[in-house]
This record gives sequence, structure tokens and C-alpha cells, in this order.
Amino acid sequence: MKIGIDLDDVLADSLPHYLRAFNARFGFEIGLAEAAWRIADRFPQIPRQEADDFFSELIAAGFFSSRLLLPHAKEAVETLADAGHDLYIITGRTPRDEQITMDWLTRVDMRSRFAAVVHRTRDPVERHKADVASGLDLDLFIEDELPVALAVAETAVRVLLFDRPWNQGLLPDTVRRIGSWPEALTQIAVRNGHGEYR
Ligand SMILES: [Mg+2]
Repeated sequence: MKIGIDLDDVLADSLPHYLRAFNARFGFEIGLAEAAWRIADRFPQIPRQEADDFFSELIAAGFFSSRLLLPHAKEAVETLADAGHDLYIITGRTPRDEQITMDWLTRVDMRSRFAAVVHRTRDPVERHKADVASGLDLDLFIEDELPVALAVAETAVRVLLFDRPWNQGLLPDTVRRIGSWPEALTQIAVRNGHGEYR
């Protein structure tokens, strides 16, 4: 199978830490259920330049470089690659951060497991990922953001959505919530072996 895999909050533990930094910087107490990248866009009282500076400074301080792997992520990727699946990282990070991404993948010793690492070249992120998913003719996409999951599902690519506080809501039949990487592997095996995945 050709499988697209999101990076932040699918392989790396990222968004909760971004939210914590945002809350600390701007004096909010936003909870995980409301977490989102570029969350400053929701607050017109935050000048755009200040929001941009916050993110640039976060990255300069090593935010993406220092992310930890989520539980079982590395073992799952190795299992899928060893089974012969073609794996693609499809991230909402921009090309500006590509070197950081590649260095991180090298550091966690996963870089060779992926056929390609695709960074975002257009907005919004859900459109970008849906285009890449259909362009690569993926069989499956693994994601944590609800708008991305819904947009990718509309292109007839099935989705596994990691169940997180920030992605609650109704899903079409082609998007399945999963609680862990072991559960993702089970779903992939079922679909691969018996064609009964839905
Ligand atoms: Mg993500």
C-alpha cells in the first residue's frame, strides 16, 4: 500500500507543546480541545507581526528539532516499511523548515524509511494535503487534524485519524478513529489482508 503519514502529532509530539508556548507568550489558558496550529489567527487583538515573531522564535529555539517521538511511532513505521509498504511523510510544515525536518528524521533514525517527505507549498493545509494524497494515489492517510482528514477523505483516500482532544466531531465512513499506532497497524493489516477495512 501507499501510505501518507502526517508528521506533527502522528510521529512527533508537537501541538500540545506549541499550545503551551502560545499560552505562556500571550497569557491565554486555551485547552487542548481548542488546540490548532496558527491559533493566533483566531485572536485579532494579536498583531500579525507578533504572531509571526512568536513562531519564528519558537523554531529558532529548536522547537521542531527537539520534538519527541510519540509512543510506538518508530516501531510502527519500521514494521510498515519492512512489510513493503511505500511510506510518504506529508506535513503542513513549510519548505523553510525542511532542513530541520530532515535533520530530525536522521536523528531519530527514520529518514531511510520514507520514499519522500512532502512539505506544504500552498494554503490551506487541508487543500495541500488532499492534493498530495490524490496526486500520489495513496491508499491510506494517517493524520490528526480533522479538516485535513475530511478533505483527504473527499478525494476517496481512506484516513486513519488519531483520536485527540482537538479533532472531535462526526466522521464519514471513510475516516476511522484510532487510539494508537498498534491500532493503526491492526487496521492496515485487516485492510491489506482481507479487504474488509472500512
Ligand atoms: Mg499533525
